[in-house]
Amino acid sequence: MDVTIEPLDCGTLTAGRSMFEAGADDTPRELPVPAWLIRHGDELALFDCGMHAELTTPGPAREVIELFFELGLTADDLVGARLTAAGIDPADIGIVVLSHLHFDHVGGLAQLPNARLLVQRNEWAAGFDPDLAAANTLNPTDFDLGHDVVQLDGEHDVFGDGRVTCIPTPGHTPGHQSLRVRLADREVVLCADCAYFAETLDGGALPPIGHDHTEQAASIERLRGLRAAGATLIPGHDAAVMATLPATLR
Ligand SMILES: [Zn+2]
Repeated sequence: MDVTIEPLDCGTLTAGRSMFEAGADDTPRELPVPAWLIRHGDELALFDCGMHAELTTPGPAREVIELFFELGLTADDLVGARLTAAGIDPADIGIVVLSHLHFDHVGGLAQLPNARLLVQRNEWAAGFDPDLAAANTLNPTDFDLGHDVVQLDGEHDVFGDGRVTCIPTPGHTPGHQSLRVRLADREVVLCADCAYFAETLDGGALPPIGHDHTEQAASIERLRGLRAAGATLIPGHDAAVMATLPATLR
């Protein structure tokens, strides 16, 4: 069984560094927004799915985001366009694993009509809890679109063969999860927003925003443990790391 990972470039978000690292200065830092295509034999899954199409054009939704970020997003950067460019019909994506419910991770769901969503139970609940949704900037119009939703309680083996596994890494949001993928001869962990940057995994400052910094620090320790056991960790929004990745990890 071949299992591969293809990073999809779904635009950028830029803001002062202090938004992403507590105590940093306000020089701008550009964050790539990736989605990840996982091929498991003939089955297609995504880990996260980028931003919503309405953010490509001026309007109220884009104005809200632009209060916080400079947005780099064209129609070509939408997950549906990236899949089409790769020769894949977005309607053929059967599974979307959601790391968490922030707009830059779930916005593409509107372009993926037939996906079953795999999300941690407490993350999905937070998305519909008025207080937690407000505190974590979770917007149901991004993700409450009628997809089948499988709510997970901890680790989950996506295809039942141990190759692709959801790993709870809470803290950034209540039910954040990362994804461990066993390739032919190595293990890769897509960290998502448990660790924005490579340096976050090595003691770098956490972002000032976040649901629970103590939980997030413990989750980072868990990821470091996987690295110590041989896994390659890929942080969620690190441009330098993304630049080193091949088109297909196999
Ligand atoms: Zn996030």
